[in-house]
Amino acid sequence: MNVPQPSGPAEVQQPYDVIIVGAGPAGLTAAIYATRGGLSALMLERKVAGGQMTLTDHVENYPGFPEGVTGEELADALRRQALRFGAELREIEAVQTLVPGNTKQLLTRSGTYTAKAVILACGVDPTGLGCPGEDEFRGRGVSYCAVCDGFLFEDKVVAVIGGGNSAVEEALYLARLARKVYIIHRRDELRADQICCSRAEVNPKIEILRSCQLREIRGGQGVESMLVDFADKKELVSIPVDGIFFYVGQAPNTGFLEGVVELDPRGFIVTNDHLETSSPGIFAAGDCRANQLKQVVWAAAEGALAAEGAERYVNSQILDVCECS
Ligand code: NAP
Repeated sequence: MNVPQPSGPAEVQQPYDVIIVGAGPAGLTAAIYATRGGLSALMLERKVAGGQMTLTDHVENYPGFPEGVTGEELADALRRQALRFGAELREIEAVQTLVPGNTKQLLTRSGTYTAKAVILACGVDPTGLGCPGEDEFRGRGVSYCAVCDGFLFEDKVVAVIGGGNSAVEEALYLARLARKVYIIHRRDELRADQICCSRAEVNPKIEILRSCQLREIRGGQGVESMLVDFADKKELVSIPVDGIFFYVGQAPNTGFLEGVVELDPRGFIVTNDHLETSSPGIFAAGDCRANQLKQVVWAAAEGALAAEGAERYVNSQILDVCECS
């Protein structure tokens, strides 16, 4: 195993065997598998270890937790497991550039990190709708994280925008705090799992407004109302609310990868079945990859597969060097 020498953050360090960009469920699992496979591994994380999981109140469908587990608890357990096997974790601002080659370079504001292999597990960030008022009231009633900001709306009226799993699960969470929660969904059927939809439908604090679109957010110091468009009925209705939570989808954190690895038209990383990207020795795993299922269990499984690929790649490079010399 190649053990990197400690040095100041602004210096170029000795190459790690593998650098993992992102410490969500995919990155943390990749670190567990890589280190157990004998590789030196560094995770670079620009937020907190755990990724999107830490924004989730309750994870009910990760195997092994019959009563469910909070996103934070699961993130903490994975982080401790990865560190226990010797993986390193560094909080950085963001990776700015990835330079491919035999030794790959990751340029960040806090220095340049080098590795023989890279696993991209950089996840996604929530998007909004870009409707009038959204930017203006961001942090003053507009939020993208119920777990982070829900406590500000105790006994108040809030709206959740979207009809997927995130929207419905977070509406259920907010209903424990708020007086009333509207779910604003553009179709006539929610798309979340049936179990979540049933819970929302019978929750007396939740009102689901279907076939409608949020058009504008209005207020003064903070959010005071939302304009909702019921196109079928040709009605534009102003509804008083104190807060609005957006759960209308996610965009991958892959801006720094343009021209480095192949991305699909939405910016998700394209790989083959072994999770190899278009650039040798660079792998991708989890939500940032163009995959079918955005789930913690799936991200974790991809992390394991990507680590196995990285291990094979690093070992093949060592063999190449031995055979040449
Ligand atoms: P999502 O499933 O893509 O849902 C986004 C929602 O936003 C959809 O209802 C969509 O409406 C709506 N939407 C998108 N653009 C819109 C627009 N311009 N105007 C109005 N509404 C718009 O996203 P997500 O809920 O964040 O989930 C992402 C992935 O993570 C999914 O695969 C989900 O299953 C998974 N996830 C799983 C769990 C869990 O298993 N516990 C929890 C959270 C997330 P349409 O339905 O009309 O497209």
